[in-house]
Amino acid sequence: MFIKDFISLFYPIYCLACGKNLVKNEECICTHCLVSLPKINFYSNENPLMDKFIGRVYIEAAIASYYFKKGSTMQHLMHQLKYKGQKNIGEYLGLLMGIDIMEDDTLKSIDLILPIPLHPNKIKKRGYNQSEIIAKGVQKATKKPLNTHSLVRHIETDTQTKRSHYNRWENIHNVFKVIDPKPLEGKHILLVDDVITTGSTLEAATHTLLAVPNTKVSIACLAFATF
Ligand SMILES: [Zn+2]
Repeated sequence: MFIKDFISLFYPIYCLACGKNLVKNEECICTHCLVSLPKINFYSNENPLMDKFIGRVYIEAAIASYYFKKGSTMQHLMHQLKYKGQKNIGEYLGLLMGIDIMEDDTLKSIDLILPIPLHPNKIKKRGYNQSEIIAKGVQKATKKPLNTHSLVRHIETDTQTKRSHYNRWENIHNVFKVIDPKPLEGKHILLVDDVITTGSTLEAATHTLLAVPNTKVSIACLAFATF
């Protein structure tokens, strides 16, 4: 008997989306729920995600795995990852995104993976950075190095939902800081985040990273909110 089968006798493993028992080779989410997620099929150059950054900051390529709508399974899964300690789902979906990344002509040339950092106070509260969990999954598939120390978030921002775009940008501007530029110099960096909504966090982080000599930045998000 495999250890996993043994453990599941005592701790049945359920699908995080529908609650049904998982069968062999299913991880965190059952096959039915996984194929029902609204997969995004556009790739790197020229896609709606790239369009979000036009006139704001230069991005090499951008990828998102699934559409994100209010009340959707995807929102439920991201909530589980962010607030309920369900790290496995982030790492698993990150791994699937990593497989897509390696099939994309621009994205497969990334040199390193860099998750959007959280402010230390938030790490203390939550215990982990959900973007780092996703990045670990991406790393498993791409075999590219993970950098979690060069970029830091040194200003804690308030919830941004009620601010106008301009204020939001003001608020996020200078939030990030590069404390160790050496490993980033001349590199094509893949910035990883959980959900992209306004894009202002990724925009600010990209600006900060592009200040390091000869860097290129691409973006990978698990979910793309279109509301
Ligand atoms: Zn399910």
